[in-house]
Amino acid sequence: MSIPDIIAKKRDGGELSTEEIAGVIRGFMGGAVSEGQMGALLMAIVLRGLTERETADLTFAMMHSGETLDLSAIPGITVDKHSTGGVGDKTTLVVAPLVAALGVPVPKMAGRALGHTGGTIDKLECIPGLTTQLTPARFCRQVAEIGLAIASQSHTMTPADGRIYALRDATATVESLPLIAASVMSKKLAVGADALVLDVKAGAGAFMSEVAKAQELARAMVEIGVRAGKRVTAVVTRMDQPLGTAVGDAVELGEAVATLTGKGPADFAELCEIIAGHMLVLGGKARDPEVGRLQAREGLRSGIGLEKLREMVRAQGGEAIALDDPARLLAGAESTAVYATEAGYVTSVDARQIGFAIRDLKAAAGEKHRQCGVLLRRKHGERVGEEPVATVIAPAGLTEAREEAVQAISQAFRVGARPAPRAGLVLGVIQGDEG
Ligand code: URA
Repeated sequence: MSIPDIIAKKRDGGELSTEEIAGVIRGFMGGAVSEGQMGALLMAIVLRGLTERETADLTFAMMHSGETLDLSAIPGITVDKHSTGGVGDKTTLVVAPLVAALGVPVPKMAGRALGHTGGTIDKLECIPGLTTQLTPARFCRQVAEIGLAIASQSHTMTPADGRIYALRDATATVESLPLIAASVMSKKLAVGADALVLDVKAGAGAFMSEVAKAQELARAMVEIGVRAGKRVTAVVTRMDQPLGTAVGDAVELGEAVATLTGKGPADFAELCEIIAGHMLVLGGKARDPEVGRLQAREGLRSGIGLEKLREMVRAQGGEAIALDDPARLLAGAESTAVYATEAGYVTSVDARQIGFAIRDLKAAAGEKHRQCGVLLRRKHGERVGEEPVATVIAPAGLTEAREEAVQAISQAFRVGARPAPRAGLVLGVIQGDEG
């Protein structure tokens, strides 16, 4: 079938065959399918959708567009982790070393900030000297030797996703559940861990604000994993207010270190224990998620995860001493108090608004952008009086940008006369295979 015929078939609601999907991706990467044709097909997919089988075929075609890793030399069951992105989401910095310290090898390729959400790589790069650019060979060797590597997504892997993502951005075709699922899972399958835990965020601060849509996305990604022969667990978690108290690269690294010694904020520590618990189950180290969670909690108390993070930082050329006193990463930065617009009880803290405020502050800060952040002093349900609800941290100067951030963060706090009840963090768990 010709490319225009394939586009027309999807436009009219037809189902594409495995070979048609593979042919389109091959053609797009080889130059036989133009950007215009690919853009038209993407729009047809947005409007008509893809079946589970088509979504899996698209994922596999994208995964095979570049290099895939061979992790078979790594002893044990390798377990990867992915979050669909949130504000204050520094979970990988805690759970990856924690789970590795508890005996499950974690090969993790991570991303940078996207929209209002932060990126693991940006936070890790606060550590002087540390590189996240590992060759595939070095990445695999490091996981085999110390059980953990966190690296940037390699350009040689899933190049089709990179090109298609850019085209989706330019053609208003980002918001498509099968396209998002294929994009995420192609990258995960190319790394090739035996099992995967997905943290699918739902709420105002997530890319999927509706819980039902987040659950649908979680199911779609689990289904792809199962079709690829992987054990996958998806945990759908609430992302309306920021996770923990820190938002911003250096302050989040500091909060991750505190959490790795049992001193993290309750909501963030709870999420870390839950995700780590599921990873320990998939890695064969815990009988069920509750047992895994208790192991994770004990691991946070004992500090073994921080020791593993130090080992990883050294292996990636970083100054592990930075983890002893992360506050030093903020040397020269100045703090500004943020007050709520009225007294009462916090009814919500708009994560998206805070994420954008920090993104804009970073954009104004030049080379010291990693020092920009906010520490939340109050969260949902807590009482607000005369005292500040947050502290904005930024390099000295930046008067105008700092004032804008203070205003935006102040307005992100909604206050009511009575404390509003807050629901739990976990909205659902979806398991694939015998996961
Ligand atoms: N993250 C991805 O990797 N891909 C998407 O399509 C959306 C978020």
